Amino acid sequence: MAAHQEKKLAQERKQKTTQNGTQTSQGQWGRAWEVDWFSLASIIFLLLFAPLIVYYFIMSCDQYQCSLTGPLTDLLMGNTHLSDIWNKTPVLTYRAAGIYSLWVAFQVVLYIFIPDFCHKFLPGYVGGVQEGAVTPAGVVNKYQINGLQAWIITHVLWFANAYYFHFFSPTIIFDNWIPLLWCANILGYAVSTFVMIKGYLFPTNAKDCKFTGNFFYDYMMGIEFNPRIGKWFDFKLFFNGRPGIVAWTLINLSYAAKQQELYGQVTNSMILVNVLQGIYVLDFFWNEAWYLKTMDICHDHFGWYLGWGDCVWLPYLYTLQGLYLVYHPVQLCTANSIGILTLGLLGYYIFRATNHQKDLFRRTNGNCRIWGKKPEYIECSYTSVDGTKFYSKLLTSGFWGWARHFNYTGDLMGSLAYCLACGFEHILPYFYIVYMTILLTHRCLRDEHRCSSKYGKDWKRYTAAVPYRLLPGIF
Ligand code: NDP
Repeated sequence: MAAHQEKKLAQERKQKTTQNGTQTSQGQWGRAWEVDWFSLASIIFLLLFAPLIVYYFIMSCDQYQCSLTGPLTDLLMGNTHLSDIWNKTPVLTYRAAGIYSLWVAFQVVLYIFIPDFCHKFLPGYVGGVQEGAVTPAGVVNKYQINGLQAWIITHVLWFANAYYFHFFSPTIIFDNWIPLLWCANILGYAVSTFVMIKGYLFPTNAKDCKFTGNFFYDYMMGIEFNPRIGKWFDFKLFFNGRPGIVAWTLINLSYAAKQQELYGQVTNSMILVNVLQGIYVLDFFWNEAWYLKTMDICHDHFGWYLGWGDCVWLPYLYTLQGLYLVYHPVQLCTANSIGILTLGLLGYYIFRATNHQKDLFRRTNGNCRIWGKKPEYIECSYTSVDGTKFYSKLLTSGFWGWARHFNYTGDLMGSLAYCLACGFEHILPYFYIVYMTILLTHRCLRDEHRCSSKYGKDWKRYTAAVPYRLLPGIF
């Protein structure tokens, strides 16, 4: 009922906006209210093809030794038929369904039933109950931050099993990779459909729902801002971090174990990928409280994009380098491995330091030092849906004075390092850097559109002070 009222209100708001002759106005920042044909076409394309893309990549490794052109060439030359490829694809098995159900259930238990204890003994770590940012409806949600603990417990159990208990093989993930893909898809679609229905029938906060009136857009980008079950089960925090990101490092470990089983050794490229991606994952959990202030939690609604994306896209496509290295065990020369390690660590440093500067600046309301000096910033204001005026600041010194999204630049450098570790024989491991470049450039534009709606003329002053987005002097 509340959702229907909000839907009506949204329509009235939309009419008012159109009367004023502007696309969006302050107090309406966030996901678009109107769907243009390009967004709609992209969404329908992704809904149709993203699951096929994931299948194509994983199948190429399984049947064509990670050659992306192999299946296409075979099909075009008439050497194989789609039905042959499909018939060779492993099917959903009871074993995979059991493993996956246990995995997700275990992560739910760690998330819901074990309050954080890491913050009690790890100096500098922020865990336990933390507050998120103000939502467009003016709500401040509380979150139980215990991802680091979930990650540690899961990995301790993994290593205990691998070296001591031997209940299952450490290659279990690799060995069931395609059957598990079907399970991940089932969960991804189930959760996206559930939150869509929930948005209509029993939203957590009706004022933070958005209805564009376009079914595909609403399904993809989500209706509810922060769907929850009960007080603590937050869909966005759970699905983004666990099961997807906790699994990331386990998946890589399983690939390393497979290399060991197949070739009697783990290559230095596999170790590099495990270490660099491991740092990235650990960083995510160490900074989970900071993550509450990032776009995914602060601005994106929860739909298929996050629900299916976290269950399928992330664990399957972010781990392609490790998968590739099982089929092509690359041993890098010392100079190359040092070069790749340096690029990866430098990228990570820029990524972390930039994010840290903004976080510190926002947390202390500007009462901090950036590179040893008082921060420079632009004062700005915005209005929430109920008309309340809020004040904020945009940092213009440190890395934030170099470019408006230098954190993305660092992220891209790290992503390139993972790909380079795989050598140049195949294009498949380079998918990640291509994808991240598209994702982060699009995110830049999306974020800036949102910030411009939110801050109006103050945003213009900011872009004049920091004119470049990713690369100073270039873009
Ligand atoms: P940011 O952390 O850059 O957050 C953007 C928000 O920060 C803006 O919406 C605005 O929010 C605020 N902001 C923008 N400029 C300033 C400024 N100068 N001073 C203070 N606040 C500012 O982006 P994301 O949330 O997208 O990304 C966070 C990290 O996560 C990045 O490092 C990114 O690389 C990484 N990431 C990784 C992904 C992956 O798949 N591996 C996917 C997405 C992100 P406000 O409304 O509060 O002003």
